[in-house]
Amino acid sequence: NATGPRLPSHLKTSIPKGASFSKIKNDLRGLGLHTVCEEARCPNIGDCWGGKEGATPEEGRKAATATIMLMGDTCTRGCRFCSVKTSRAPPPLDPHEPENTAEAISRWGLGYIVLTSVDRDDLADGGAHHFAETIRKIKQKAPQILVEALTGDFAGSLSHVSLVAKSGLDVYAHNVETVEALTPYVRDRRATFRQSLSVLEHAKKEGVRVTKTSIMFGVGETEDQVMDALRAELRKVDVDVVTFGQYMRPTKRHMKVDRYVEPAEFERWKQVAEDMGFLYVASGPLVRSSYKAGEFYIENVLR
Ligand code: SF4
Ligand code: SF4
Repeated sequence: NATGPRLPSHLKTSIPKGASFSKIKNDLRGLGLHTVCEEARCPNIGDCWGGKEGATPEEGRKAATATIMLMGDTCTRGCRFCSVKTSRAPPPLDPHEPENTAEAISRWGLGYIVLTSVDRDDLADGGAHHFAETIRKIKQKAPQILVEALTGDFAGSLSHVSLVAKSGLDVYAHNVETVEALTPYVRDRRATFRQSLSVLEHAKKEGVRVTKTSIMFGVGETEDQVMDALRAELRKVDVDVVTFGQYMRPTKRHMKVDRYVEPAEFERWKQVAEDMGFLYVASGPLVRSSYKAGEFYIENVLR
């Protein structure tokens, strides 16, 4: 039909709870930080900010994850699944952003921060220096905070990947988003599956401990294609972590949902990927690449 399949009930979300959720939310006021979690009204905010059930506020805070978007709200690319604004010439970077972001994050004091950004093909370095500088400053001010960088592909420039990979981060993430055959349909034409693999491979070669990627389900991929992407491609370049989530169509101008994947199938993929040797796997209808990243990191890397 014209709009694709109906929304199943497992995608309806509940109100956030958790020991540290309200405290973390209150602390955020006045810091001038804008989180993707709040601005995108992410359904996982209770899980990511609230910490585990039964955890004390202190434990909750240590395991809590928030995502911050750098380099503005306007992307030079236009992927068919993404609701971010597009322009060939977004406003210039704010030179104070690395310092101000690092200061606010260090005062907020969450355990795990994911830094992400729009793609900036308009900048000579794709924003790599700016990204790396923000990470260095966070680590100077608050070395205990774990930092994940979720970057674009820097148009395939591996020297720019190196700049970020060597900035002191803990996890380098770059999302392939879908299987190779669907990449030209799903992502901006400047993105290729091979280029994304080379970003992940290079980050690992530069000594990053944990590399990570994400695949959306429900855009038309087949089981064999997903198997191939995981085993023949991502494991081969030593990607450590993979996450699987359901594609949700942001507006009618975006590509249609091909199908809604049942929770049991997400569970099965988690098992399949763990059996292939991925260090940890987050998989579920509402999972996004930063979903509970702090908690997973603490449980699987630090222990
Ligand atoms: Fe924030 Fe990502 Fe968690 Fe959503 S999944 S609440 S964006 S950290
Ligand atoms: Fe969205 Fe990233 Fe694609 Fe830009 S590159 S349109 S931010 S998914």
